[in-house]
Amino acid sequence: MKGSVAVCPGTFDPITAGHLDIIDRSRQLFGTVVIGVASNPAKAPLFSLDERVSFVSEAIAGRAGLEVATFDELLVDFARKHESRVIVKGLRATSDFEREFQMAQFARRLAPEIETLFMMAIPEYMFLSSSAVKEIASYGGTVGGLVPEVVEAALISKYESGLEGGT
Ligand code: ADP
Repeated sequence: MKGSVAVCPGTFDPITAGHLDIIDRSRQLFGTVVIGVASNPAKAPLFSLDERVSFVSEAIAGRAGLEVATFDELLVDFARKHESRVIVKGLRATSDFEREFQMAQFARRLAPEIETLFMMAIPEYMFLSSSAVKEIASYGGTVGGLVPEVVEAALISKYESGLEGGT
């Protein structure tokens, strides 16, 4: 599969060490991994799309075979646009399963040629989520080691300045 392309989609609000672990492990299997940052205004992200993309870009800087792109369309259309037949998702504990299972069924229905592949979260990151990180940071707790440094700094300044909310 070394020559092929996989997409790793998410809201990445913000990117965490758990996301990066799935991205790195995907890269071991596929020649190119396109990280798809969903604009997802319905989720009312804390960080703007530009901020989320810049955090991802900084976190993966200098690593071959990784690309970042935004999307505001069906995930299968995004995958097709990037000539990818594989969508890689991370699975944590049991909380992700039902929703991911549903999305994978719809993806198959819309694009039977595209496979959704699930990777188990590693134990250290099993309970790590963007929302947990934001909650901890909002109360002044440290999130070092759970997110890239650029994100840690951005969370601190966001909550210090009280400028919350993005699109
Ligand atoms: P979240 O679910 O934290 O809001 P996203 O929507 O950005 O994050 O999720 C993108 C993908 O990354 C999903 O497939 C999700 O299950 C996966 N993911 C998120 N956090 C982790 C983690 N700690 N370990 C493994 N996979 C994860």
